[in-house]
Formats: sequence, C-alpha cells, structure tokens
Amino acid sequence: MAMYVFKDAAREHKLLARDAQRQDKSIRFYCPNKKCDAHMYVRSLDGVAKAYFGARKSYSHEKGCPYTSRGFQPNLHDENGFKFEDALLSLTRQSKTQSKSEIPREHGTGEVRPKPIHTIRQIYSMCKSHDCSDLYNGKIIGQMLLDERSAYMYPKGVFGWRLIELKYRYYSSDRKEIALVGPSNGKEYTFIVKFGDERLFKEINKIVYENRNHLIIVAGEWKSSGKYNTFCTEFKSKKQLAIEK
Ligand SMILES: [Zn+2]
Repeated sequence: MAMYVFKDAAREHKLLARDAQRQDKSIRFYCPNKKCDAHMYVRSLDGVAKAYFGARKSYSHEKGCPYTSRGFQPNLHDENGFKFEDALLSLTRQSKTQSKSEIPREHGTGEVRPKPIHTIRQIYSMCKSHDCSDLYNGKIIGQMLLDERSAYMYPKGVFGWRLIELKYRYYSSDRKEIALVGPSNGKEYTFIVKFGDERLFKEINKIVYENRNHLIIVAGEWKSSGKYNTFCTEFKSKKQLAIEK
C-alpha cells in the first residue's frame, strides 16, 4: 500500500492519501517508485477507515517494489498509540516471549483490536509507504527513517533514534564492529554498528555479509563516532535489524 502517489509519470506532482477527493476515485496514479509502472487507485475513501493507494491487479507492482499490499496497511494499526522513540528503545531490549499474533482478538467476540506498529519491519514499511515530509502520529517520516528521500534533512549528520537504510561496507572482528554506508544517493555517511556481545556480533555479521547486495535496515540511537562523517550505535538485539530484498 502507498500513502502517497504521483499524478504524473515524471513524478513531479504528489498526492497524499489524506488529500484524496471523491473525484480522484477513477483516476490512475503513479507508484512512488519510479521504476514501477503499477496503476495506482485510491482505496477506502468513504467511511471511517483511512484512505490509501493500491495497484490494480492487472497492472500491479514490479518485483521488490516497497508499495505492494505486503507493505504497510494503515487500517490494521493504531496510529495514535505509536511513539517512535519508545518503539525503537524496545527494539534494543532483549525480547521476552511474545504472542505471535500481531492483532489480538478478544475472546468470543472475534473483534479485532488494532495495536500500534512495533517491529522494525512494520516501522520501516510505514515510513516507506508515506512521503518523507508527511507525518505519522505527528512525527515527520524523514525524522524516523533516513533513506535516499530524506537525505536532504541530514546536512550535518545523524543524531538520535533513527532507522537507516544502509549498504554493507566491512567488518572488524577485533573491534566487534560492522561498518555500513548510506543513504545510497547523494550525501553519504559511514555508520558503525558496535557489539558488546561476541556471539551476537558473529550472528549479525554473517546475516549482513550474506545480504551485502541488499538494503540493510538498522534501528538505533546514533551518535558521533568522533570521526568525520561517521556515526555509531550500540547493537543489542536482533530486533534492530531488517533486510530488504
Ligand atoms: Zn510499485
């Protein structure tokens, strides 16, 4: 799903789902992904549910496009309950056993109670589906996810809690560090992911290395490393990592 589209093939004129009007219903819009020619239409415009954009089945998304129906689904989650920094803080904590169901159903009634998004993949999908200057529960998307689109918001570096879309660069077993770079377009910084735990370092380094040709998403609290244009974070839990294939 996409929370924004473009009105033209050149991707110059944006339309946010929240601004879609009744007369937009029969219009074909363009997927935010320039490499994707999906025919996008506004959905769920009437009623209490949030409007969003989805592709026609006969003109669906390219393989790997982040705006497919596998992505963010606005009406399955409680936007008002989402607190970005709390969500990222809990990604850095060791997980207790959790129920597998993301949408708990109340006993007997079958009623669905939406929960706020909380996994790195859900937060990443939510950010990707929105325009980077749009808001989710009052917070600017580009201040949650650093990617090619929001790179212009970071002229002096990256400080604080963020998800970052990165590419693998190298690792150091001695220092228990993995170095990545991002975002892949325009201004590029180096990001050092530091580990206190040897086993976690080996496990994550293997996953990241095997996926060195894919985008690697890391959530953390980023600080200056002391080196020019280089930032670092502590990696404490597997929940801080996602691979975008
Ligand atoms: Zn697409």
